[in-house]
Amino acid sequence: MEILLNPGRLDRPYPDQRSREVMRKTVEFFERKGKRRLKEDYHARVWYADFLEFVKRERIFATMCTPAGYGAPDARWDTWRICEFAEILGFYGLQYWYTWQVSVLGLGPIWMSRNEDVKARTARLLEEGAIFAFGLSEKTHGADIYSTDMVVTPIDEGRYTASGRKYYIGNGNEAAIVSTFGKFAGAGDYVFFAADPKHERYECVQNVCASQNYVSEFALSDYPLTEADLLHKGREAWDAALNTVNIGKYNLGWASIGMCTHALYEAIAHAHNRRLYKMRVTDFPHVKRMFVDAYARLVAMKLFALRACDYMRAASPEDRRYLLYNPMVKMKVTTEGERVMNLLWDVIAAKGFEKDMYFEQAAIDIRALPKLEGTVHVNIALIVKFMPNFFFAPVELPEVPRRDDAANDDFLFRQGPARGLGAIRFHDYRRALATYDVPNVKLFAEQVAVFAELLATAPPNEAQMQDTDFLMAGGELFALVVYAQLILENARIYGIDGDLVDQIADALVRDFSEFALQLHGKPSTTPEQMRLCQRMIRKPVHDARRYDAVWAERVLALDGAYAMPT
Ligand SMILES: Cc1cc2nc3c(=O)[nH]c(=O)nc-3n(C[C@H](O)[C@H](O)[C@H](O)COP(=O)(O)OP(=O)(O)OC[C@H]3O[C@@H](n4cnc5c(N)ncnc54)[C@H](O)[C@@H]3O)c2cc1C
Repeated sequence: MEILLNPGRLDRPYPDQRSREVMRKTVEFFERKGKRRLKEDYHARVWYADFLEFVKRERIFATMCTPAGYGAPDARWDTWRICEFAEILGFYGLQYWYTWQVSVLGLGPIWMSRNEDVKARTARLLEEGAIFAFGLSEKTHGADIYSTDMVVTPIDEGRYTASGRKYYIGNGNEAAIVSTFGKFAGAGDYVFFAADPKHERYECVQNVCASQNYVSEFALSDYPLTEADLLHKGREAWDAALNTVNIGKYNLGWASIGMCTHALYEAIAHAHNRRLYKMRVTDFPHVKRMFVDAYARLVAMKLFALRACDYMRAASPEDRRYLLYNPMVKMKVTTEGERVMNLLWDVIAAKGFEKDMYFEQAAIDIRALPKLEGTVHVNIALIVKFMPNFFFAPVELPEVPRRDDAANDDFLFRQGPARGLGAIRFHDYRRALATYDVPNVKLFAEQVAVFAELLATAPPNEAQMQDTDFLMAGGELFALVVYAQLILENARIYGIDGDLVDQIADALVRDFSEFALQLHGKPSTTPEQMRLCQRMIRKPVHDARRYDAVWAERVLALDGAYAMPT
């Protein structure tokens, strides 16, 4: 079974007709639009009114982005179907994904709010085809959202004015509601409020980016607010910001997966049918190697992101493991996406620049994903908090099955306080590493055992703990352990054959060696830590039969499997 998306064969299981219909209609919209127009609009930076018209006509965002109970019976917030929807949008263009994604972010603080009037209005607006925006970032503050300069000043009982500017806010031109983050004057408590871009005191200043997306700078000057416009106050506003990003950042991995998948179809079709020196380009051993690596990495990205979905859907106040896994979808899957594109681009070379290739836009746009909604660094800094419990205090937790049921993911909108990450407990990662009896998984488990030994016997000292450069290198090794764990858990669930799992683990072994070498080279690494890093550097086991099987049965099988109509 091929796990990668093929729009010509949408065979993912869904418990209801409407979910299938959303995927099918979305694919049909793009296939009808065709590659020529898709690319023309991209190059001319045309606002995607046709896509939004389709979304409105078919009630797509209403179905996908209204939690159960607020909209039509077919509406629910269901991360299982959201995955594939995000993947399809990324497959046809990051710009289409982006207008949806920033709507998701804008909806986060609304659906998390106790303001039932705004929620009822939002549900109506979604039915009418509205889009939304998330006004968190500011020009001068970047990731430091503590320093917001959007100030809400109380006037009298229940009345306020808001003044300040926001920067990089997608959909800030056309959104029905911009969920805007700021601070109360004086006390400095945080606040989230609903702003209306049509209001005369909302100035849409500019599109900061030259793209089909409208990534706005907007300014509010004495923008009037009443209690009815407020979504959250104080600690809850802060939590709503972080909890919204928890939901949203998961979708970035799916954009990457969709983009790489489309690029892979184009790349294999080009390379396998191009002849140089009386042979196919794919006959070069290094080309074959790059394709096998790209394919294995892409399957790994998808297995990981799918498994993270299960944990997001199973999350509860008692089970917050998703807070490790979804930043990983954001930082690891998206950086792997860049790597896949690099491999493919090295193969197809000049073809990857041509204006009528999907590849050309994906090669540029995929760079955005590791950088948005918290950079890779921010996410590594976040996940290292989980390391002690992950390695040294595993607990028995209920096994999470594949979550493809038609549930509404209620918990995502009542995640509670964003703090307390260091107390979250995990199940034993060694179990997943022991499930596959293939050489490279075993080798990887040995590398991980040495890393755990380093943490136990030569842990980072006080100065190293303060050195974010050192922590990043250690964080990459940790991330790879978590990545491998969920990939292997899901390989079982999806019945991935041993050859492909071994090929994926071949890449994991190489990556682990690479990160170990980086840690080894940091200025402050101690001799004992260096010795352990050297023991982590291992050569993967090569098996010509396995490699040829993955190449012939998996990668080459994609030649001609899909091409977007022109
Ligand atoms: C096209 C686009 C669309 C966007 N859409 C939206 C949107 O709709 N709504 C919205 O609110 N924002 C949006 N953003 C903003 C974006 O999410 C943030 O700007 C981004 O997450 C932070 O990037 P920055 O360049 O501001 O980095 P900065 O915060 O300036 O960081 C500078 C450097 O410091 C590092 N750093 C910062 N903090 C830490 C830390 N705690 N630990 C370790 N390293 C750290 C970073 O990794 C980076 O290398 C968008 C941005 C772009 C470009």
